[in-house]
Amino acid sequence: MPSSPTRTASWRWPLAWAATVLLAVLGVLASMHQSSRSQLQHDAEHLALHHAELVIEATPDLQDLLAGQARPAALASLRQLRRVGDVFRFKLFRSDGVQLLVSDDLDRPDAEVLRPARRASLPHEVLRGEPLVELHESDGRGDRPLHYSQAFVPVKTEGRVLGAVEVHVDQTERHASVQAALWQNTLAVALGLSALAGLGLAQLRSRQRAERRAEDRVHYLARHDALSGALNRSSFGEALAQAVQRRGLGGGDFAVLCLDLDHFKDVNDSLGHAAGDEVLRQATQRLRDVLRNGDTVARLGGDEFAVLQQGVEGAEAVRRTAQRILDALSKPYRVGGQHAGQTSVSCGVSVGAAIFGADAGSLEELLHKADLALYRAKAAGRGGFSFYDAQLDRELQDRRELVRDLRQAVQEDRLHLHYQPQYGGDGHTLTGYEALLRWTHPTRGELPPAQFIPLAEENGLIDTIGAWVLRRACVEAAHWPAPLSVSINLSPAQFRGEQLVHHVTRALAQSGLAPQRLELEITETLLMRNTEQVVRMLRTLSALGVRIAMDDFGTGCSSLAYLWRFPFDKLKIDKAFTQALADDPKVNLIVRAVISLAHSLEIRVNAEGVETPGQLRMLQKHGCDEFQGYLLGHPVAPATLQHNAATTQAPARPGPSDHTLAHLPTMPATLADTLQID
Ligand code: C2E
Ligand code: MG
Ligand code: MG
Repeated sequence: MPSSPTRTASWRWPLAWAATVLLAVLGVLASMHQSSRSQLQHDAEHLALHHAELVIEATPDLQDLLAGQARPAALASLRQLRRVGDVFRFKLFRSDGVQLLVSDDLDRPDAEVLRPARRASLPHEVLRGEPLVELHESDGRGDRPLHYSQAFVPVKTEGRVLGAVEVHVDQTERHASVQAALWQNTLAVALGLSALAGLGLAQLRSRQRAERRAEDRVHYLARHDALSGALNRSSFGEALAQAVQRRGLGGGDFAVLCLDLDHFKDVNDSLGHAAGDEVLRQATQRLRDVLRNGDTVARLGGDEFAVLQQGVEGAEAVRRTAQRILDALSKPYRVGGQHAGQTSVSCGVSVGAAIFGADAGSLEELLHKADLALYRAKAAGRGGFSFYDAQLDRELQDRRELVRDLRQAVQEDRLHLHYQPQYGGDGHTLTGYEALLRWTHPTRGELPPAQFIPLAEENGLIDTIGAWVLRRACVEAAHWPAPLSVSINLSPAQFRGEQLVHHVTRALAQSGLAPQRLELEITETLLMRNTEQVVRMLRTLSALGVRIAMDDFGTGCSSLAYLWRFPFDKLKIDKAFTQALADDPKVNLIVRAVISLAHSLEIRVNAEGVETPGQLRMLQKHGCDEFQGYLLGHPVAPATLQHNAATTQAPARPGPSDHTLAHLPTMPATLADTLQID
């Protein structure tokens, strides 16, 4: 992993710090060295001046001496000054530079001490009357010490420089002690600075560690789902990409298992989000526990998880993993705090899997297929495992596409209604129409409701569609001549909430259609579930003045109990009976009995699917009140409706006057309107 810019920058700090400390140490050393030199210089000057004073004091006849006439007494005094303290030599010069005396010569009594020696010009400073000190080092082998100073002190009278005393001071010891002090100080400074540097570095390191921890946390959060600690979607994508690379290098097959917790929404809704979060955390831990090293868990969002299984040798390995997951995740979860008391929650899982290579050639395809397999596992009743299967998944995919298109059609107002006429007992008198939903699919053409109503029911679209049908059919029926009625089919799914009554009232109010002209068709399956609530809603609707019909009678459980639990206005005999009338005498008997039973309960009977005059005649003979079928009229678009008598082979009777809807204004109730309103 490449180091982040922040991390690289954090290493520059200690380097800069160390360089600064080093420079500081060197600076302190240099300045101490300088100060030790000036101390030696100062000492040398002090001693030289003092000694020169002694020399001058020792020779009251210095003038004579400088003139080259030394008295023995003066020489004796000077001899005593030959070695004083660290002074190991002195010389006397005239101002013209001629050397008059060297203290070394004073040691020899027989020496010819005042023999002027070679001329050497005195340094300018000395001639100007200022002392001059120079520090020297020697190799110590001659008569000179290792460290000594050479000082020239001018001899002046009345401001005039008569000559100079040159004093040599042995500074070896002094140098050694200054040097020792220098090193001690240096050591102290170095130690101090090192301690300071160490302290600074320690602070720097702890700051770096804190920064690194923060960086690591940010990095971790960027890769993981904060709630469960599983990988997040993007990191899972990276893990998959690496798996593809490894496989390319001979690393073996791998599979993706898509997981979805069953009924997780119920946990969230009933026990709250904290409990939901707890279930997700525990589920993640259980997944980790059942997976092998190298396999990866990711949370893709909500209650969706994905597992990357590496080193897969055949489908059986994946199936075993899926089984372990199913076993682990279907055990109850204990949720709730220590104090609040714990609750046990059951929440199974559905798993779908696909193998890279065998099922898919790209990651996108792999994920898609694992997801399709999951969809199938859920469709098969949840709590199960499904492998990707090409044939079954084509059908599933087809359904999914259809749902997507239906959703779009609802948005774009591409559903419409056809109306099939219903005639009275004489087979001629138009009594109303049944509204039948149609969808013209952009590529598949006109689709019958049986193909898309179940999809709408499964995918939560039925409420919107149902409300639109109600509005649209009522608005159109309001333009038909009274007392023509409209029958509208209701799906059981529309009875789930309390919205239906509201939608019906609203459709009636907005269209101005009299409630007696509206008939709602329900099926037996609706009454099989939650009868109490449905009957209550039906009573409310009935109280509005709306008629209620039982559709497709004879195809469901046909429990007669339903007929007395709710007073239906109409019973519609399913077309299967109508069409079997002629062939099966028993059907004939059943239909006759049903009609007679309905009449005794004061329920009118409609026979659906009348296709032949023979069927019509038989039904008329049994006293059927109403007919509907291709013989009398197909479902047609509203613009082509002719509200006149039926023109069948049945004996013609004059019907109500012709009335066409062609002149009606465009209907305002569109699906989009419904979507906005509801
Ligand atoms: P349904 O309510 O029993 O409607 C009668 C069905 O029988 C209609 O099929 C109609 O076209 C068909 N039909 C009418 N006469 C004959 C005939 O003589 N012979 C034959 N073989 N068939 C005939 P469609 O339009 O395909 O509707 C099928 C079902 O879809 C309807 O059955 C109804 O249950 C449902 N449906 C239609 N529109 C809606 C709607 O707006 N909402 C709901 N929830 N369901 C609807
Ligand atoms: Mg119907
Ligand atoms: Mg029917």
